[in-house]
Amino acid sequence: MEKYTPDENRILQTLDNYKRVKAQVEEAAIKANRNPKDVRLMCVTKTVEAQYINPVLDSGADLIGENRVQEFLGKKDQLHLNSVEKHLIGHLQSNKAKQIVGEVDMIESVDSIKLAKEISRQSQMKELESKVLVEVNVGKEDSKSGIFAEELEELLFQIAELPNIKVEGLMTIPPICEQDEARKYFSSMFRIFSDLKGKIESVDMNILSMGMSGDYEAAVLEGSNIVRVGSAIFGARKYF
Ligand SMILES: *Cc1c(COP(=O)(O)O)cnc(C)c1O
Repeated sequence: MEKYTPDENRILQTLDNYKRVKAQVEEAAIKANRNPKDVRLMCVTKTVEAQYINPVLDSGADLIGENRVQEFLGKKDQLHLNSVEKHLIGHLQSNKAKQIVGEVDMIESVDSIKLAKEISRQSQMKELESKVLVEVNVGKEDSKSGIFAEELEELLFQIAELPNIKVEGLMTIPPICEQDEARKYFSSMFRIFSDLKGKIESVDMNILSMGMSGDYEAAVLEGSNIVRVGSAIFGARKYF
């Protein structure tokens, strides 16, 4: 006899996955001689329905990431978001900045001065400050958004001049590769991140967001302090 419905089974599986990933992130931090409290686990909830996300939020997850403005705005009212931080992690077009500014706690995917200016402008109009990360295309892939490392410092100096937008650090998605190879990209990102600390007035380097389902352990070993994990928690994504 079936004890649980398929939905209940999926929820139990998701909660199990969350606990396992959380424990593995903590173990990786300890292995790297870091304080586990310094590494945050983001649950990437894109394409996942609220009914599977809420049990994870109820069990203590405090950070979610969404890729698409429309999808997030469409489902946020169904989510148990009290004391949960929300980050936009997907590519953002300048013309959509208006809709997302003020709706999330951080935009992790700033990769052009044009977008930064629009976030700044919208934040001024809404009388708030937007926290952002600058996305770096560490593998220089044509298919990925993000700015090349060589252009990063110039962009940061430009953003520093803008009102109502505050850079808190960097985000990256390395090329798809084995964990060993990913580690080299992560370590190169950590060097870039560390070198920028204290270099530009009013630009903070507190957050280094890197590591996903296939490589979060490697990322933590190399100094990440936000890992963004989707499919390892919620299962393979179905796109509609
Ligand atoms: C989808 C996505 C993730 C999570 O990917 P998984 O491999 O499912 O963990 C992390 N970061 C960004 C920017 C994403 O778009």
